[in-house]
Amino acid sequence: MESIEKNIEDLRLRVKEAAEKSGRREEDIKIVAVTKTVPPEKIQIAVDKGLRILGENRVQEAQGKIEAVKGDVTWHMIGHLQKNKVKYAVKIFSMIQSVDSYELAAEIDKRAAMLGKVMDVLVQVNIGKEETKFGAEYEETPELIKKISELEHIRVRGLMAIPPFKENPEDVRPFFKKMRELFMELKNLNLQNVEMEILSMGMTHDFHVAIEEGANMIRIGSGIFGPRI
Ligand SMILES: *Cc1c(COP(=O)(O)O)cnc(C)c1O
Repeated sequence: MESIEKNIEDLRLRVKEAAEKSGRREEDIKIVAVTKTVPPEKIQIAVDKGLRILGENRVQEAQGKIEAVKGDVTWHMIGHLQKNKVKYAVKIFSMIQSVDSYELAAEIDKRAAMLGKVMDVLVQVNIGKEETKFGAEYEETPELIKKISELEHIRVRGLMAIPPFKENPEDVRPFFKKMRELFMELKNLNLQNVEMEILSMGMTHDFHVAIEEGANMIRIGSGIFGPRI
């Protein structure tokens, strides 16, 4: 068996375990296969093995792969999005997970309107307050989402976070907990035009902890495709 296929089987087992620990089922957790630096032939193996959501960090890299990969798949933008790339991004992605400012949201809204579509987005939160990372400030996120919710061609579907890297994944747990609190707080606000359904957090190194703390979407790259070269 290809190692990618084996990796996916192992991943699914661990997802199931973590889901059950938090009183959920394997199907409740969506896996985004992160394809940065991965060539289309390898992505195809993951798709044929049943993974249906693919995540890319760069618009340009995604464009070629979207044409090459066959199957019933959707692509999510998970990397930092520059304003001048928005017009391409709204065409090729079914979700943009990295919205972290009103200016970016307004540009997405404008470009989506021109295509006559409503763009699904997640708001990225800089949960570790790291200077090197993108994302909205934790405390400012509710206000930001309220403002974005007034845009007609954007629908906020949830939150995304990339917490600080810690050698021991247990040390990331408090960040995941805080994200879950924010997620619930926003859900309870019942904002119009906002569907707080998706909590996208957890990567290869720490996804089991993220799921235990309430993630329902995880983003896995090296755990599927092997180390990035
Ligand atoms: C690369 C990347 C991932 C996946 O990272 P792995 O550690 O390889 O699983 C997830 N999310 C984002 C935003 C990424 O850039």
